[in-house]
Amino acid sequence: MKALVKAKAEPGLWLEDVPEPEVGINDVLIKVHKTGICGTDLHIYNWDSWAQKTIPVPMVVGHEFVGEVVSVGSNVVDFHEGEIVSAEGHVVCGRCRNCLAGRRHLCKDTVGIGVNRTGAFAEYISVPMTNVWHHTAGIDEDVASIFDPFGNAVHTALSFDLLGEDVLITGAGPIGIMAVAIARHAGARNVVITDVNDYRLDLAKQMGADVAHNVKTGSLADVQKKLGMTEGFDVGLEMSGNPNGFRDMIDSMCHGGKIALLGIPSEPMAIDWNKVIFSMLTIKGIYGREIFETWYKMRVLLESGLDIKPVITHRYGADEFEKGFAVMNSGLSGKVVLDWSV
Ligand code: NAD
Ligand code: ZN
Repeated sequence: MKALVKAKAEPGLWLEDVPEPEVGINDVLIKVHKTGICGTDLHIYNWDSWAQKTIPVPMVVGHEFVGEVVSVGSNVVDFHEGEIVSAEGHVVCGRCRNCLAGRRHLCKDTVGIGVNRTGAFAEYISVPMTNVWHHTAGIDEDVASIFDPFGNAVHTALSFDLLGEDVLITGAGPIGIMAVAIARHAGARNVVITDVNDYRLDLAKQMGADVAHNVKTGSLADVQKKLGMTEGFDVGLEMSGNPNGFRDMIDSMCHGGKIALLGIPSEPMAIDWNKVIFSMLTIKGIYGREIFETWYKMRVLLESGLDIKPVITHRYGADEFEKGFAVMNSGLSGKVVLDWSV
């Protein structure tokens, strides 16, 4: 089968013929229809220091996908040929204290599809049945292909009560942009998003931000003044991974404000802890999704009218993957989806 392989320890990915994956007794074999390109895939493509430390070579990469079940292992009874499914990208051990207590998202031995084990940028992928998610019949497959990052946005945004709250999102990458739409849908009062990239800020505005603010052009204090806010943001969703984004957020929170931290800084990041202490902030680290609790909420959000489709700005055939990675690298994109049916 065809697959996008990190074949060499250097920048790039290669479309190669590789053996079809094996299907264990607890596994589901899925024919991949569409895949989303994640920031993580870009790190792997560009072969930065994180990727060099983390990714075994050669390996099939990718973890955001939708497809159809083609066969199942002998223990699998809940999945059938032809069903449209995606998979949770974190495969957990099932044996550690958190897993045994049902808190699978806190597993200490999480393995990432397309990061630590064979990925989804391929014609077929085999995943444990405990990771497979049935989609609602008739779901838009572009949207279904990006449930993984949508889940990051949902898990982060719904970490704290948003109803009536003033919400600051730092970073208008695809996840920040989806978080705008979620916060709006969940009944936030003011939703403000920041970035340094006007293309992405425009997209965030289309997705419902009250203010999409370029931090190069002025201060967040002025934005708050214009909105008539006198006490700072109630909830902060850090989605830039940039230390300045996080510092701006800490400076802009109300007393007792709550911050969910999703963005991954590339190195240790200094903040003024006095501000955290004297503003009595709560900071929660976020990794992945709360597995299927988040997937359930994603389904319900879509069923109740949330539209995340505008975040998908580019679509290519899998054989045009270079174009997809180039547009992601340019910053002039939201989500990029590759079609494996071509
Ligand atoms: P992305 O890199 O596409 O978006 C980050 C955005 O932040 C970019 O648009 C960038 O221009 C913007 N930015 C840079 N400096 C800024 C500043 N000073 N203020 C405001 N914005 C600034 O990333 P994404 O795919 O949307 O993901 C968001 C973040 O979440 C990334 O850091 C990613 O690594 C991280 N992530 C974390 C998890 C997790 O499980 N914790 C999962 C997925 C992604
Ligand atoms: Zn575990």
